[in-house]
Amino acid sequence: MACICGKCNDNPFDNAMKDMDKAAKVAGISSLELDVLRKPKRTFIFTFPVRMDDGSVRYLEGYRIQYNDARGPTKGGIRFHPDVDIDEVKALSFWMALKCAVVDIPYGGAKGGVAFNPKECSSGEIERVSRGYIRAVHKFIGADVDIPAPDVYTNSQVMAWMLDEYETIYGKHSPGVITGKPVEIGGSKGRDYATSMGGAYVLRSMKDITGDNPTVAVQGFGNVGLNIARILSSWGYKIVAVSDSKGGVYSADGLDIAKVISCKRIERTVTRLSGAKKITNEQLLELEVDVLIPSALENQITGDNADKVKAKIILEMANGPVTFEADKILHKNKVIVVPDILANAGGVTVSYFEWVQNRRGNYWSEDKVLSMLEKVMANAFTDVRKWAGAFKTDYRTAAYIVAIKKILAAEKMR
Ligand code: GLU
Repeated sequence: MACICGKCNDNPFDNAMKDMDKAAKVAGISSLELDVLRKPKRTFIFTFPVRMDDGSVRYLEGYRIQYNDARGPTKGGIRFHPDVDIDEVKALSFWMALKCAVVDIPYGGAKGGVAFNPKECSSGEIERVSRGYIRAVHKFIGADVDIPAPDVYTNSQVMAWMLDEYETIYGKHSPGVITGKPVEIGGSKGRDYATSMGGAYVLRSMKDITGDNPTVAVQGFGNVGLNIARILSSWGYKIVAVSDSKGGVYSADGLDIAKVISCKRIERTVTRLSGAKKITNEQLLELEVDVLIPSALENQITGDNADKVKAKIILEMANGPVTFEADKILHKNKVIVVPDILANAGGVTVSYFEWVQNRRGNYWSEDKVLSMLEKVMANAFTDVRKWAGAFKTDYRTAAYIVAIKKILAAEKMR
């Protein structure tokens, strides 16, 4: 949610536009050409009723933004979070368009959300929100139009309810309309940890900078944070700190990630882990580690704390965790930022594989999914690194250049 203090600018959409202008300047793209990317193509804002367990009815506000569809049907998750607002969804949908272009999958970008706190709701209430959302947008989505998926606080169960509602309305199976589904109803093997796996593959290609057994701090222990901690620790990386919305834990010798996961499952927070030092989320961001992995929400590293970051690499597994102001400071301090539109593109990449499998009615092994994901991530990383070298610029600017050029080329052909 955008801050109203007047001092800082943490409006994620404004920051995204500044990043785009910077990339355009570096690559010599004219401001006029960029006009098509300054506004979303279609914006839906709606309210819908949800019956709560106590019998009352709440009217929730929902959003779906289809930002750009020059390269294919629009694609992107649906977020359930109390802070969801139109500027956030706008930024997230723009980033989806860029992300799909960076990894070169044939999609445009979209995002959706509902402003409410699922942590305060029963499973039945969340199901009714999911079904209500689809009743509100079903006319505007479709396997060739706009394909939703999970995001913050939505998961494969939510996708199952949404798909079921859609199929009930249309009276036929349409698995390609939503990705991130459970495998039992057409989901892809490997999709549940694909975002984390993609980020881990990118990090592994940076061994020249990280060394063999780097120390890592992970902020956020939802699906993405949990899985990247699990994968990297199984590869021998030392995870010294993790956190969730309630706070974090630290151990200089490295945390036992299996124990952290079981603590999170049982206690619903990592902060109850025994034998580790308690730290705050702010302290986690300032730890002396090789790799810092923000995996929660936007605007975590800002003009206020960027100077305190001591990591060599920031791998952005969340969308938009580093602001435009922070980026400048980090660049000056020689901290390498692997941008979200590359680092966390593994999720949408396996969503694409899921959609391909649904449309062919032919399902792949987990090994096949992972080896194809690794190829896509490696190609995207090589491309971004090449352009960063050619333009003597940072990885975010290079990734924006790669993406913008592809989207504008598609717009031009049309
Ligand atoms: N919500 C995820 C993202 O931000 C995945 C989107 C998708 O699979 O469509 O990339």
